[in-house]
Amino acid sequence: MAQQTSSLTCTESSDLNTSSFQPSTTPIVRFAPSPTGFLHIGGARTALFNWLYAKHHGGRFLLRIEDTDKARSSEDAVEAIFNSLNWLGITSDFDVVFQSTRAARHAEIAHKMVANGKAYYCYCSPEEVEKMREDARANGMQPRYNGFWRDRDPLLKPANISPVVRLKAPTDGETIIEDLVQGTVRVQNKQLDDFILLRADGSPTYMLSVVVDDHDMHISHIIRGDDHLTNAFRQKQIYEACGWTVPHFAHIPLIHGPDGAKLSKRHGAMSAEEYRSMGFLPETICNYLLKLGWGHGDDEIISIEQAVEWFDVDGIGRAPARLDMLKLTNLNGHYIRIADNQRLLDLITPFLTEALRRTPEPLERNHILRGMNGLKERAKTVIELADGALVYTTKELEYDEKALTFCNETAKAHVAAVREALVSTDFTHDTLEVMLRNCAQTLNLKLGALAQPLRVALTHRSVSPSLFELMEILGREETMKRLNSYLT
Ligand code: GLU
Repeated sequence: MAQQTSSLTCTESSDLNTSSFQPSTTPIVRFAPSPTGFLHIGGARTALFNWLYAKHHGGRFLLRIEDTDKARSSEDAVEAIFNSLNWLGITSDFDVVFQSTRAARHAEIAHKMVANGKAYYCYCSPEEVEKMREDARANGMQPRYNGFWRDRDPLLKPANISPVVRLKAPTDGETIIEDLVQGTVRVQNKQLDDFILLRADGSPTYMLSVVVDDHDMHISHIIRGDDHLTNAFRQKQIYEACGWTVPHFAHIPLIHGPDGAKLSKRHGAMSAEEYRSMGFLPETICNYLLKLGWGHGDDEIISIEQAVEWFDVDGIGRAPARLDMLKLTNLNGHYIRIADNQRLLDLITPFLTEALRRTPEPLERNHILRGMNGLKERAKTVIELADGALVYTTKELEYDEKALTFCNETAKAHVAAVREALVSTDFTHDTLEVMLRNCAQTLNLKLGALAQPLRVALTHRSVSPSLFELMEILGREETMKRLNSYLT
């Protein structure tokens, strides 16, 4: 997905008149995060599923920022959501909508519902509502508003009280959701109370805004976490009260940690951005998130093009998905191996710059690029790749613990023999290999037993790319310099 771009990226605009929200014969889906923090990895999966659903069905995907709760929303969070989605290649096909700009429209609908007898003004104070709840609890019933103002003459309203608007919810029968993932789910209407649509200060509740927006934006399918399943009943009641078509719902199970508990900080990284800074590629995250809770036979590696071709909600499982870091890391190794070398060089450059405390020189970049195929084989994250690439820079690396055991006199004698032989050797992979084999034979050593001290002499590390490749790329001058330094 990172490779694909749609016509509109995450630009900020919320004027519905200028966007193209028209009834559509193809699906329109949305991702509607509240900008109260980073983009949770579960949110990223919800966004991905929506995006794939749209692409698979030739539909469109909308990003709507649900920033009605001004106290909890922040610009930083909006920024984090944009950055994460752009990184994953999940782009909105419409200008991004900021829900807070639509409060007047939400209020307009609430008042219309009152005028149509579908909702009513309630003048109870919060204390009175709390008392009703307590009474209900005391009678062993669900705490709820008791409908006090439902059929009361508004002329009896107290002075100086700004009312809330409540839905005149059905009192008998049941509300049924035919959920595309959960199947048929139902609730007895008497369990739901006349919930608030508009607060006393005139601000809309989440329940109202989300329905009005989904309706106005012609959302055909609501794909979101199953923590919203219970909200769907109330939302359906609003659609019905307004006489609007109810969209299809698909509530996807949440992501759990490896221990089966709901994903939390103690399981490790939670935000998409953390995965990025841990060195995961966006295509890995997309592939992994896709596999987490959605299946296509035994396929583990699924390109984004394949995902667009195959994705549909019927492949989404009902059991909570478990995050498995080992699987994720191995998958990242795969995507690193098939990634373009120049792109990888660009990705590791910030990490190299930090390690070197300077930007890598053109010659170093050139060496890394030439050695990239070998480096890729040994790295499962961008950070590991950057670390491996340091052997192609002129930075004098610390000896790793195992490498230190190859700094003894015997090892040095063996490396000295190689240095001797190198004087008359061409620095090409194959001649270097012949040279080392001959040296090993002369010293009566196995190739590995000679390679290891040589590796340590050249890189100060016990693991590195192939020595022949390394020496060929570094060239005679740098190779000799490193050997001389090791031997003094
Ligand atoms: N804004 C809600 C949230 O971030 C999601 C609303 C929805 O998907 O219906 O939890």
